[in-house]
Amino acid sequence: MTATLTFNDALIDHLAYVADKAYEEHRVRRIADGRLVQLGHVAVIEQWRCEADHGWGQCDEPLLINEQAALLVVGRTWDYALEQPTMPPVWVQVMAHDGLQETELYHLSDVSQDFRKVQQNRKANG
Ligand SMILES: [Zn+2]
Repeated sequence: MTATLTFNDALIDHLAYVADKAYEEHRVRRIADGRLVQLGHVAVIEQWRCEADHGWGQCDEPLLINEQAALLVVGRTWDYALEQPTMPPVWVQVMAHDGLQETELYHLSDVSQDFRKVQQNRKANG
């Protein structure tokens, strides 16, 4: 009897491994029933959550992948990265449209901060 491991199974295993490792090393949890995160007119669903204790109890903030952060801050999913996040971003692999992708996870508080900056600049520039 031979066990057949499909590409799909391997991928699911791999993503589970990535999630386990992320939790072990950084206390970030991949979640299936995330909260809705809205900034301005754009909303995304939380996919990762920070359960680390940064010194004041469990954080519990939504963590946003690059694409989500970009969408919330600049209204598009590419060509954007947070410049000075307060919390060090955690790198994970996620499944994207074109396969596995490395992405940073940003705390919502950092993303909101950039969002406000962009809004202020827009106002200042008319
Ligand atoms: Zn945190």
